[in-house]
Amino acid sequence: MRRETISSLGELALLDDIRRRFARKCRDVRVGIGDDAAVITTPGESLLITTDMMVEGVHFDLRFITGYQLGFKLVSVNVSDIYAMGGTPRHLLLNIAVRGNTPQEFVRMLLNGIGDAMNHYGVILVGGDLSSAKGGVSLAATVTGTGRRFLLRAGARVGDGIYVTGRLGDSACGLHLLKKVGRTVPITFRASRNLRYPLPGMRVSGRVGSKRAGLQWETVEPLLRRHLLPEARNSAALRRAATAMIDVSDGLLIDLSRVCDESGVGARIFEEKIPISSRMKMAAKCLGLDPMTLALTGGEDYEILFTRRHGKETAATRIGEVTESERVIVSRTGDERIFSNEGYQHFSG
Ligand code: ADP
Ligand code: MG
Repeated sequence: MRRETISSLGELALLDDIRRRFARKCRDVRVGIGDDAAVITTPGESLLITTDMMVEGVHFDLRFITGYQLGFKLVSVNVSDIYAMGGTPRHLLLNIAVRGNTPQEFVRMLLNGIGDAMNHYGVILVGGDLSSAKGGVSLAATVTGTGRRFLLRAGARVGDGIYVTGRLGDSACGLHLLKKVGRTVPITFRASRNLRYPLPGMRVSGRVGSKRAGLQWETVEPLLRRHLLPEARNSAALRRAATAMIDVSDGLLIDLSRVCDESGVGARIFEEKIPISSRMKMAAKCLGLDPMTLALTGGEDYEILFTRRHGKETAATRIGEVTESERVIVSRTGDERIFSNEGYQHFSG
């Protein structure tokens, strides 16, 4: 049987499918999909707008990620930027370019992932664009958000504490594991959230010291999940006291450097305070990687990094404090070194 392709479906039918799937009535959406532009009403609030692209061969490799996961991730990375401003995500615009010979099934799965993420974050699709592509898959999403008070990268003050939510480095470790697995892992957000199943034939093993070590699926799966199906961290509980905020998308050191740049301050952070999960530590050892390096420079954790005055305990870890100018990281043994915005940059070699 010939696999049904997107060119045999056509732009109009695909658009119809998208419209039927995602049509929702919503108070602030006066006009949604179907006209020349969407009409949104936001009484008494400001509108946040952010956009992010995902390009095959640059941001993802289809040997390792499914269409479903790609769709989920596309929404998450955009929602994360809205949370990082202290906003509430509201609307989504979706741009998709694929080759005509792309299987319809791939685009269906992509839309399934996008739909699951939309439900998870409570965002509504209000428009977008479709195009054929000559090369690989290109995706872009634009997400709006609302809020009354915004948290910028600028705003950190000398003496503030530096805090981060969750654990760092899981996603980067997950990517290394994924490359070992060497193929796509069909986990989804909905179905197998709590389901732990071994992937047939999958074994990840390495060496710890001189001993051979294997990793249990129970250790591997959450790390793969953090990379393939990242959930943006909701900042609602942190907004009140925060002075500056950013999401950790490119790695702690580079994202903290951005806060320092914009705020005109320095930072002093402590390795012993960096939150690292025990399963990441275990997996990193098995892979021969340094957990601290993954936590400091690995990207795509989508946790929230923020500064605030000292005060009550928060649902985040205090990793250091804002200083006047130097950017210092203190090792477990007390050695100090200067850090800079080391991390991934497009267009550089
Ligand atoms: P135009 O030629 O005016 O840009 P389109 O045919 O591209 O119109 O789009 C028609 C309607 O469908 C618009 O409301 C647009 O926002 C919506 N739309 C197009 N592509 C998508 C998509 N991928 N996701 C959601 N809505 C889309
Ligand atoms: Mg168009």
